[in-house]
Amino acid sequence: MNARHDLLVVGGGPAGLATALHAARAGLDTIVAEPRQAPVDKACGEGLMPGAVRHLAALGLHASGHPLTGIRYVQGTHRVQAAFRHGPGLGVRRTHLHSVLHQAVSEAGVPVLPLRVGEVRQDATGVSVPGTGLRARWLVAADGLHSPVRRSLGLEVRNRAVPRYGLRRHYAVPPWSAYVEVHWVPHGEAYVTPLGPELVGIALLTGQRAPFATQLQRFPELAARLPAEAAVTGVRGAGPLRQQTP
Ligand SMILES: Cc1cc2nc3c(=O)[nH]c(=O)nc-3n(C[C@H](O)[C@H](O)[C@H](O)COP(=O)(O)OP(=O)(O)OC[C@H]3O[C@@H](n4cnc5c(N)ncnc54)[C@H](O)[C@@H]3O)c2cc1C
Repeated sequence: MNARHDLLVVGGGPAGLATALHAARAGLDTIVAEPRQAPVDKACGEGLMPGAVRHLAALGLHASGHPLTGIRYVQGTHRVQAAFRHGPGLGVRRTHLHSVLHQAVSEAGVPVLPLRVGEVRQDATGVSVPGTGLRARWLVAADGLHSPVRRSLGLEVRNRAVPRYGLRRHYAVPPWSAYVEVHWVPHGEAYVTPLGPELVGIALLTGQRAPFATQLQRFPELAARLPAEAAVTGVRGAGPLRQQTP
């Protein structure tokens, strides 16, 4: 690992892999550090907006999932919705999206090192990762919400807002709409994303800490459609969601 690369991408999530792909295709000697094995899963609503679908297509990539027509907001008996104006979005499992991007990066000849980057050091000519021999002219920190690189560079700012968390789970039920539904209750919202002919993803965003099943009961319309026995994945969480930089 003593080679000097043009670009080191820290984090092999969607942002890191897409960046690595663009860089490799632009002729940069690129390397990715990602400690988790592909395909990486994560708490997410899994709805790609039309812009993201276009970016994937521009990379020559295709992910399969459920086309999304638009967004619908639901509060009690009130509903308001809008169709996307510039093509459909796509409901797609994170694991599938990750596999598509990971394969493209491999095919582009970009190594993905199973490495967790801690500290990074900058000098006049590049960036290095102490203890690894890794060195590159540029580094992209794509290491997610709680970015260790951001912390290492002293760019973390304490956030005083009420912390909000995300919880997601999948249900083997036929989607009842091609719209992403956002259901509102006083202490949070639920994102319902159609993902396949028999698969719906539910992402709950809330400032209140409680198990997924308890939170879901606050959305009676959803709870009625989503019996516990239809759950096909465990609950994954993420948060606090809002992070700041100086
Ligand atoms: C509940 C919830 C719902 C969401 N719903 C949607 C949605 O519907 N649509 C949408 O577009 N977005 C949604 N998002 C946001 C979306 O998930 C993120 O914007 C997206 O995952 C960011 O991608 P990323 O590649 O930057 O980071 P991540 O996907 O978090 O990837 C970061 C990667 O960095 C790696 N990493 C971490 N530390 C290190 C380290 N020290 N060294 C090396 N690698 C490291 C991690 O293993 C990880 O693979 C949602 C988020 C949440 C929490």
